[in-house]
Parts: sequence; structure tokens; C-alpha cells
Amino acid sequence: MARVAEIRTTCPYCGVGCGVRVKPVHEAQSVHGDERHPANFGRLCSKGAALGETLTLEERLLHPMADGARVSWDAALTRVADGFRNAIDQHGPDAVALYVSGQLLTEDYYVANKLMKGFVGSANIDTNSRLCMASSVAGHKRAFGADTVPGVYEDLELADLVVLVGSNFAWCHPVLHQRLMAARRKSGARLVVIDPRATATTADADLHLPIKPGTDVTLFNALFDQLAQSSARDERYIEDHTEGLEAALSAVGSASLEDVAASTGLSPSDLRTFIDWVRETPKTVTVYSQGVNQSSAGTDKVNAIINTHLVTGRIGRPGAGPFSITGQPNAMGGREVGGLANQLACHMDFDPTDVDRVRRFWNAPRMAERPGKKAVDLFQAIGRGEIKAVWIMATNPVVSMPDADAVREALQACPLVVVSDIVATSDTVQLADIALPATGWGEKTGTVTNSERRISRQRAFLPSPGEARHDWAIVADAARRMGHAGFDYQGPAEIFREYAALSAFENDGARDFDIGAWATCSDADYDAMSPFQWPARKSGPVAPSSPRQDTRFFANGGFFTPSRKGRFVATPARAPARESDEEYDLVLNTGRIRDQWHTMTRTAKTARLSAHIAEPFLEMNPMDASARGLADADIVTVRSRLGEATLRLLVTDAAPMGRVFAPMHWASRYASCGRVDVLAEAVTDPISGQPELKHTPVCIRRSDVDWYAFGVFTEEPAKGELSSLGYWAKARTKNGWRTEFAGKGEAPLQQLTAALFKGKTRSGVQELRDRAGFRRARYEGDVLNAFLTVNRREPVAADRSWLSSLVGVEIDAATRAVLLAGRPPTGAAAGRIVCACEGVGVDAIRNAISCGATSVDEIGRTTRAGTNCGSCRSEIAALIERAPTAPNLRAAE
Ligand code: SF4
Repeated sequence: MARVAEIRTTCPYCGVGCGVRVKPVHEAQSVHGDERHPANFGRLCSKGAALGETLTLEERLLHPMADGARVSWDAALTRVADGFRNAIDQHGPDAVALYVSGQLLTEDYYVANKLMKGFVGSANIDTNSRLCMASSVAGHKRAFGADTVPGVYEDLELADLVVLVGSNFAWCHPVLHQRLMAARRKSGARLVVIDPRATATTADADLHLPIKPGTDVTLFNALFDQLAQSSARDERYIEDHTEGLEAALSAVGSASLEDVAASTGLSPSDLRTFIDWVRETPKTVTVYSQGVNQSSAGTDKVNAIINTHLVTGRIGRPGAGPFSITGQPNAMGGREVGGLANQLACHMDFDPTDVDRVRRFWNAPRMAERPGKKAVDLFQAIGRGEIKAVWIMATNPVVSMPDADAVREALQACPLVVVSDIVATSDTVQLADIALPATGWGEKTGTVTNSERRISRQRAFLPSPGEARHDWAIVADAARRMGHAGFDYQGPAEIFREYAALSAFENDGARDFDIGAWATCSDADYDAMSPFQWPARKSGPVAPSSPRQDTRFFANGGFFTPSRKGRFVATPARAPARESDEEYDLVLNTGRIRDQWHTMTRTAKTARLSAHIAEPFLEMNPMDASARGLADADIVTVRSRLGEATLRLLVTDAAPMGRVFAPMHWASRYASCGRVDVLAEAVTDPISGQPELKHTPVCIRRSDVDWYAFGVFTEEPAKGELSSLGYWAKARTKNGWRTEFAGKGEAPLQQLTAALFKGKTRSGVQELRDRAGFRRARYEGDVLNAFLTVNRREPVAADRSWLSSLVGVEIDAATRAVLLAGRPPTGAAAGRIVCACEGVGVDAIRNAISCGATSVDEIGRTTRAGTNCGSCRSEIAALIERAPTAPNLRAAE
């Protein structure tokens, strides 16, 4: 039998951009980290390690659909092309829009951008990366003259001090966090984490600064001022390579450190320690992510950070620099290729010279000459009826956009909504007039760029399922049907060559983004491409001639401003756009959890990843909960000025007083009312257009709930049956589904049992009714196929991980005897799953701690937790830290 080749490709989740080796084994795919890939050197996090489990065709969109009925590609694309052409003819080019995604490959992005900006004649194409890192782009452009990330991942390992700002790095960029932690174990480098919440990342920090949300600019202005007055000030660098220092310093104000401590909510001694550590550490890297970017002052936050690096000359040097880490796998590629409405391709702008240059290169008949609408404006324009046709690619704005219900209403009223996606079940696809099946990870071919400017290949190892087509091919086909020349691409290599040629076109070094070395590559060169960092100029070595080639920027100046000097930017502090008040008395922060990705369209397909956190939740401080008469596990209604979400309450010291946190992942597919972005107002940063997703005033009350239930089932509870019950949330288990329910009035036992225990069984039912509630289990032979426990008044206390492991498997007599209690026999409890790879729960880890394990490694030796991908190591460290003897245990870590 012929040997099946192994494919080297790239993980499709976060901006770390890990290399992945995939090898077909029988019907499945074996997935491993690529030891040769310079982003991860073989590591993968829990999401990457579970990639092979997400490749089923379940829920895939496999055929073009129009108005809910299957149609041919010809009919679908004719309708798309006619609809767009008619809207343009009748209302002008700005009456149409594309909303694209950091999930797209660069080649997809390039073709979509070329169609809109060069041939339709409108820049109304924006990417969901607007929600993730537009403030970093704007901050880079203000300071550097271009959207240039100065450093490389290796800097995190070379630094003596790493400052993480607004990033739960351990959960959101796990492999990079692991690289950092491994380097710290050798070098002893310090880690400061600036985050209002206690997280898995803060558990690893030498210093956690639980800053008052929205005061980052105040903190970094104070640091900037102190550095400028200290021996850390690099006079030579400032003089030779920068401009605007005095104006920026004068905007800082003259607050004392005591005042700054009071404004930021930090202790004066912690503030002083932070400033001292930065001042005395030339090799300092400041890493920032969504906590900085997703703010109405996001661009100022970025520039406040960059100011501290320019004043010390700590930029572009090994182990030193400001470092923006992106969320999505190809957010950087989208920035480079012009996926943002306010940029042209290859980091060119809407100035007349760049517009003319791109027009000539593309031979574009109708070149857009001004920026288009950014994401929030774009959907508001749809809502106002100004945009008549929109094409959404590979993203789910009905869940992820702020004021998400208004986005839903806008799309419902829009005359033509086209959605190309891999799934048929997303909230956005449900609203499509025309749904186009796209190929997904493992089926498509192209390139992505990670957070350190490294371009890597994604390679296909599976055939296109059903009638799915590649995004670039769908867009090119529609463009041809709209009558445009220049879209006859034979494949992604041809697109990439054109893109590389544009990056080098009339580029004499004045533009940072140049991959001209690839402009004439053959198809075979493209196929064989190894990961490389840009720039890769035509006159330079064809990357990667040297994997260690230094591609850092700005150590010796050479900025991309007209003067070629870096700019200090004045960043006067200002309050968040909306503050809490008497009615909306808490502030909601939204973010990500370790084992889910975006709106869960792929990661929720795996039981392993769903085991970590299976229900949408709200973190609240115990004092805030007590003041409202709320208790852990209550179902709560979170209300903002715009909408409501219903979530499970998690009372925890990790949440600061006055602040609550909820994950952004849950969509209508998996929860009755878990879309938290319906709460966020569409308030944006005035420069970047990035919405404020981390600072929404809300009020919280216990939901009107009289009964609670939990069940595990081999068959998925149907959404229609669930929707009449009230609250529900469901997640996959290895052999079925686990579901939470809650509702008002008398528990509808008849309705629940009718819906959840369908059909007849020959083998048996266990049932128990008492004053507290109702429990029922049903078997086929010895296999448990349904279990339900219903409580009147109290939330269900059951070992959900244990019950989830039992559904769909044979149950022995001893287990059957205790099953209705909802808890395993003494000593067999697992508790909430912490290590997804090894299936180790929190109870087993706590047990290991109580038996004397004093470090993550010791817990790994006794339980195997944290011994595979390592994504849970920080969470285990947090459990050790919070154990009663925490100080001693932490010291032994
Ligand atoms: Fe994928 Fe995890 Fe690597 Fe991110 S850190 S690219 S999610 S394996």
C-alpha cells in the first residue's frame, strides 16, 4: 500500500500561527505540532491538538442555497452578481459591501479586496479583525508611519522583563505563553501582568497589577514620564530617530505617583515596583492584545505603550520592543493585503500616489479613492438602508459584533445578504438570502501571516466536500459574472505571485511590506514554501535563506514616516465612553476562554474541548454577589442599555469588585440566550473604529427561575423542544450531549420527559421522585442513553463530568446503584475538566495537592494533567496558588 504523505500546514485558530503536521490514519487525521515551524517548534495547545476532531462534515454547508432551497452554483452566483450589479447601477458603488474575516487566507482576501477597491469602486470592505486589532494598526501607523510589528517571538524569550497588558496570554495565545514560561524557567526573567481580573496568566506573574479598567493610558503615561526623567532615557536614539517628545510629555500632566496609583486603583508600592523594574531592565518587551485594543481609547493605549519604548530606544532589539499579538490566524495577512476599509493592499494608503499606483498595477477601471465604512459603521449603514447588498465571508457578525441584535435586524431588512461559510448553522448563515459553501481548514490552500510577520502555508489534505469551493474562486467567479477582467486565476500560487509583485511595485524601501522575492516564484516554489518573515525584498535573499535572518524593525530608526523618524504621540488620558451609573452599576468585560474559538462553529464539535467549560457564564466577585443576594450557580439576567443575556453565575475572587466578565463565544446554536455582544454598545475608538467590547455598563439580577435541571443524552435535545422551556445550554460529550435547563413555574416534567426520553426502551428506566425534585435514567441493554435530574428551587448539584462520561457507555451494577444521586462513589469524582487532553478534573488535581503535590510537574506525574499540550499548566498553577498552603506551594513551583 502506498505510504500516505504527511502534510505540513498551519493551525487555523489564533495569531500565534503554529505549524501543524497532519497525517491521514485510516479514516481520521493524526495531528501533531510541527517541530520545524519557528512559531511553535512542535508545541500545540489544546485547541490545536484537537484539530483532527473538528473535521467531520456534521453541520457543514455543502451546497449553494437560495432562500433556503438548494440551487446550482450557476444559479447562486448569477443571483449574487446580478444583485450586486443592480445595487451598484441604481445606488452607486457604496451601496454594496463585503464583510470578511481573519479566517480567510491571504489569497482569498486579496481577490475580495481587489474586486471591491479596484473594480466595484468602493472601499466598503472591512474585516472582523477590526474587532480584534484595528487599534494596534492605527497606533503603529501614528508612531511608525506604517503598520509594522517591530519584533519577533524570540524577543519574549530573550527579554529580562515581559509586561503583558490586557492579555490572558495563557488561554488566548497558549503556545507563545508556554514558550515564555519555558524561557523564564531558564533565565529567571520577570513577568508583569496588567489585567483587572485574576486569570490563569496572572497566576504565573511576578507582579500582577489589577488595574482599574480604562486607566491603562494613565499608567503608561506615568511610566513614560518617569522613564523620560531617568537614566533609562536614550538621548541618542531620541535625537537621531524620533520626533515629538516634548509635546507628548507635556500631555502627560503632572500627577504624582500617589495620584496615579489612586486613579489606576493600584497600590503605590506595586506601581513603584513596576516603574523600577521597567526602568532598570533594558531588555523589556511589552505585549498587548484585546484588553488594550478593544477600547474607545484603544489607539491612545497603544501609543502610550509605544512612547515608553521610543523614549528608551528599546525597540527592534533582541529582547526589547512593543509587541501587538493578534487574535485570528490571518489577522495580520488581512492587514497586509488591505482587508481593512481604510487601507489599500500591501500597506498602501488612500493617498493619491498610492491610489494611482494600485490603479495602474491592477489596471483597475474604477478605483476606490477614499476609505470605506469600518465594521460598526458598515452594519449601521445596512441598518439605515444605505447598503443594499452585503456579502459576509467566514464570519458570524450576528454573534460577534457589538449591538448584535441591531446587526441581526439590519441583515433581516437588507435586500440581499450573501454568506459564504463552512457551516450551515451559524446565526448569520440563518439570515442569508444566498448561502455559498466554502472549503475549510484541511481543504484549502494558501498563506497566512502570524503575529511576528511570519508567512506560512496552509495546505489541503482533504478533498472539498459536497459542492464546497475555495473563497478566492467563489469571489473570482462572481467578479467575472459582474463583467470584470483580471480574475482568471488558475490557483492560489498565481494570486500570491501577483500580490508579491504589487508589494514590490514602485517600492524603493519607503514601504515596509515587501515580499517581492516571491513575485516570480514557480508553483513548485509556492508549494514548497517554508515559513518566512517579511520583508523578503527582491534584492534580498529569498526567504528563508537563513531562518535566523534578523527582520526586526527600527533598532536604527528607519521609520516609514515622511521624516523617517518615529513619532511620539500625545495621549492625554480620558475615561471610557460609557461608565456605570445607579441603574447599570457593574461593568462587563468580555473575552475568550481556553478551549473555544470565536463563535464555536468548529471547537464546539469536539467533546474534549467542550469538557473544559460547557456553559456560558458570568464571573462576579463574592461581595458584589452577596450585595445582590446572588449565589454561585444561579441563573442570572445581564441587562445593558441595549439588550439582555442569560448566564450561569460563577462567584469568584478572580473578578474584581464592580466588574463582571463573560465569554464572547456562545451563539444560539449552543445556548438559549448566551450572545453577550447583544449587550455591548457600538461605541468605537475615534481613530481605529474598533469597538469597546470590554467596558459595558450592565445590571444583573437573578433570572425568574423556579426549577433547574441537568441531563446527559445520547441524542441531541432538539432546539425546538428546548426553546419553550426557558433557559438551556448544551455541549457535546464523547457519546452524546450534556444539557442544562432552567425555567419558571412548576417544572414541566411531562414535557421534559417527552422531549428527552423519546421512543421506547426494552431495557429499563430508573426513576426517583421526592420533594426536592425528580431523577430519571434510561438504558438500552446496559448502556445509559439518557439521564435527567430536575431540582425545584435549587441549582442542580451533580458531578457533570462524571455523568457526561457515562452517557452512551455500559454501566455496571455498582454505578447504576448510585447513578440517580448524580455523584460517583467516594473517591471517583473528577469534577470540572481542567486538562482537556488527559481528561483530568479539578477534583483529581485538588486531591493531588492535598496529598502533597507542590508543583505543576508533580501534579503531572501523579495525575498526568498538563503533560501533553500544556495549555492547562497555568490553570493548575492557579489551583496550587489558591490552595490553603499557597505561599509555600508557590515557592516550590
Ligand atoms: Fe493554534 Fe493553539 Fe497555536 Fe494558537 S496557540 S495557533 S490555537 S495551536
